[in-house]
Amino acid sequence: MSYSIAIDGPAGAGKSTIARAVARELSFIYVDTGAMYRAMAYYFLKQGLTENDTEEIKAACQNAEVSIAYENGEQKVILNGEDVTPYIRSEAVGNMASKSSPIPEVRAKLTQLQKNLAARENVVMDGRDIGTCVLPNAQVKVYLTASTHTRALRRYKELLEKGQTDADMQKIEADIEERDYRDMHREISPLCQAEDAVLVDSSEMTIEEVVGAILALVKKVK
Ligand code: C5P
Repeated sequence: MSYSIAIDGPAGAGKSTIARAVARELSFIYVDTGAMYRAMAYYFLKQGLTENDTEEIKAACQNAEVSIAYENGEQKVILNGEDVTPYIRSEAVGNMASKSSPIPEVRAKLTQLQKNLAARENVVMDGRDIGTCVLPNAQVKVYLTASTHTRALRRYKELLEKGQTDADMQKIEADIEERDYRDMHREISPLCQAEDAVLVDSSEMTIEEVVGAILALVKKVK
């Protein structure tokens, strides 16, 4: 039987950094499910669709085949045969992902793909609904969060490091609040802590401390 670790939490909590590091330590596969929603969103934007085109998104999602591949241990997101990994990290794609992810057709397609992956491989999977919906039987579940201000500050620093000199801290914080609200209040699979998930607040913790805390949980269960 494969082993699954589910890490859920709001935007900017550090899920991908932590999940990637935990996967490396355990030689598990890291699955970034947000990247899959982003790839779908990228496809919708390329089709000229906006968040209000719900019916068109439902139809378009039938033509968007998302899969993942690994190159040197890094996840690549493939959309209809093309590696779209470099194009999915913008705020525009992130916002469209958050606006299109509540659509049942989008979720059904990606959830099935995620379940199939976890059935075949030992995974560390991060997202919003992994512990609650995608992998309810995951051996370890973590709800990773941090204060809104901490998360905004991390994203702000990330953008500055990427050379984006006009990054606006207030706007980033407002965007994060708006995205959290949408992710937590949607009808299907809203972001929430699974009953059996362990809460980890990383506001005052280093990456190493968070990774250590999760590895300790894994040791307890293994
Ligand atoms: O984690 P990331 O910011 O890349 O996710 C982008 C968006 O995809 C989220 O705001 C959320 O709406 C959606 N998502 C989701 N379920 C997941 C992962 C991401 O609804 N498991």
